[in-house]
Amino acid sequence: MARYTGSACRLCRREGAKLFLKGDRCYTDKCAFVRRSYAPGQHGASRKKLSNYGTQLREKQKAKRIYGVLEKQFRKYYEKAERMRGITGENLLMLLEMRLDNVAFRLGYGSSRAEARQLVTHGHFLVNGKKVDIASYRVSVNDVISVSEKSRATEKFKVFAENPKTLPKWLTANTENFEGKVVAVPAREDIDINVNETLIVELYSK
Ligand code: SF4
Repeated sequence: MARYTGSACRLCRREGAKLFLKGDRCYTDKCAFVRRSYAPGQHGASRKKLSNYGTQLREKQKAKRIYGVLEKQFRKYYEKAERMRGITGENLLMLLEMRLDNVAFRLGYGSSRAEARQLVTHGHFLVNGKKVDIASYRVSVNDVISVSEKSRATEKFKVFAENPKTLPKWLTANTENFEGKVVAVPAREDIDINVNETLIVELYSK
């Protein structure tokens, strides 16, 4: 699956917000957005006020970049969200949250979604006992996500287990067993990303 391979910090500067794409570095004074909180490029520092369309577009770009999804796939998520019952914007975020790479990140495996994605594609995880190495795999309620026996013994995973993260309400974890479980569908208030999904819906509804 294609993915963006350019500078992550450039994306934060473009969106005018910290997107926390680089894990621990994002919380230090090395953060590029803290140092240069204006858009990249020659005219970045003199950015003008955005139009309605521009604001909607930036919100969509922000969501895509936070979850590491490219346009075509993001559009598919939107179309699926639209076909579902409920509020389209919230459905969209729910679908993105339930990607396996995001779930691995939420369970504490990786300091960023990009790192968690790499761990998934390298085959470190099982879903209900079966190896799954597809980052976009969508988990369901009652799925058990675990680390493969071989990977548990590695230093990297031992460090993850020793530093558990605060979990969102829709996940539980048994760190000793390197296991996590999806116990509910994430509600909007459980998704702590700074994106106005209504603007994304407005953009795609034009
Ligand atoms: Fe964004 Fe993190 Fe880079 Fe800061 S360090 S600009 S938050 S990716």
